[in-house]
Amino acid sequence: VGVLGAGQLGRMLALAGAPLGITCRFLDPSESTCAAAFGEHVSSEYDDSGAIERFCGEVDVATFEFENVPAETARAVGERIPMRPGAESLERTQDRLSERAFVRDAGARVAAHARVDDADSLDAAISEIGLPALLKTRRFGYDGKGQVLLHEPSDVDAGRQLAGRQPCILEAFVEFEREVSIIVVRAEDGACATFPMTENLHAGGILRASIAPAADSGGTGDEARRIGETIAERLGHIGALCVELFETARGLLVNEIAPRVHNSGHWTIDGARASQFENHLRAVCGWPLGPSEAIAPSVMLNLIGEAPAASDILSADPAARVHLYGKSARPGRKLGHLTVVDEDREALARRVRALAGLPGVHRESALAAAERATVS
Ligand code: AMP
Repeated sequence: VGVLGAGQLGRMLALAGAPLGITCRFLDPSESTCAAAFGEHVSSEYDDSGAIERFCGEVDVATFEFENVPAETARAVGERIPMRPGAESLERTQDRLSERAFVRDAGARVAAHARVDDADSLDAAISEIGLPALLKTRRFGYDGKGQVLLHEPSDVDAGRQLAGRQPCILEAFVEFEREVSIIVVRAEDGACATFPMTENLHAGGILRASIAPAADSGGTGDEARRIGETIAERLGHIGALCVELFETARGLLVNEIAPRVHNSGHWTIDGARASQFENHLRAVCGWPLGPSEAIAPSVMLNLIGEAPAASDILSADPAARVHLYGKSARPGRKLGHLTVVDEDREALARRVRALAGLPGVHRESALAAAERATVS
């Protein structure tokens, strides 16, 4: 399987593929990547046709683990070998404005938003949407990057600077009750393996902790599943796709579609019967999908900026599942994650609390996740 991108998602795809006899080859412009330890790395810019040719040789099928891969690269690969998902999934989701139009067409709701083409059109957008609001770049935003929160008129200068550099959207600030996500893996024949809805805790725009299955008293999980499966079908998507949602008093709003395996699905490696990574590979290879049910309640904690030694994690909880990505430490960088899986919700919460003080774990999010994990 050829993989465009070679970060931790590529690494976890390769790890999931190994027992199935799948070998991965990666194309990524970085010189050293954390996936390269588990597959051949073609180190090149995405638009180098010679490198694309080398990448495709002996590869049966290609996929991507990074949604900002140029759609032209996906098309160039797709002319040589099957590309799953196709360039359509990338193109629809790379631009926040067209992504939101697509979501509405698919019958789901998004937050009120307005187009901001330059600094001068920001004022008109503010009169339409009101404050507080988030100004987001249309392209290349992730983990809260390329976003400015506008609380009051005095913040508008920072917004004008961002809008002067890149096309943006201004989006109403959503007073959500919680953030959830749904991961759907769709096969070529339209069959879906959909994982239980996950609850996600963010700080500073970055995912810190996930709780799965998310507590669900009012059929929200079913609604999230419908939204995710409809979006996957409308895209003609093959492989994994994540829809990030805000749960509000008036129902679910779609925040973002990630047309790939996703951080909020990392718990599935240890907490589901067949993980998002394995199911993604099965889908792109045209194989039957595996079961997506949760084995037991799980909490995933991201290790960001710094990562403890595995031995320190295991001293805090010998049963914690440790995933270190082999990346060098840098502020804000995702360096690994931990998953705690436990049938007993009180024990799950206790174990998560015992990990909350580790370096790289966001303490408040971990304590909040422990609390949330006791609710079914
Ligand atoms: P994004 O990069 O758009 O996924 O945003 C990162 C995080 O910022 C989200 O997970 C939310 O926690 C927060 N966020 C994004 N958009 C909004 C919004 N319209 N209202 C409130 N919070 C938001």
